[in-house]
Amino acid sequence: MTDNRIECCKCQTPMQPGYLMEKGHGNKHSITTWARGQPQKSFWMGLKSPQEKLETRTYRCPRCGYLETYAPTTIA
Ligand SMILES: [Zn+2]
Repeated sequence: MTDNRIECCKCQTPMQPGYLMEKGHGNKHSITTWARGQPQKSFWMGLKSPQEKLETRTYRCPRCGYLETYAPTTIA
């Protein structure tokens, strides 16, 4: 993904880069993570830690509010 100018697929407005935030352990903020495969429940952790996971980046259209999320293999 070398082109940073991502346009909204609904209204072709340039989208703003950002990310989806969630609260993790101790109310620490973290970035929503993409995990490969199916979620596996763990008694202690809620969900078992996945083998492969990637940080995500989400783009938002300032015009219509559409969100588009990417999980690049390398985070710029
Ligand atoms: Zn839009």
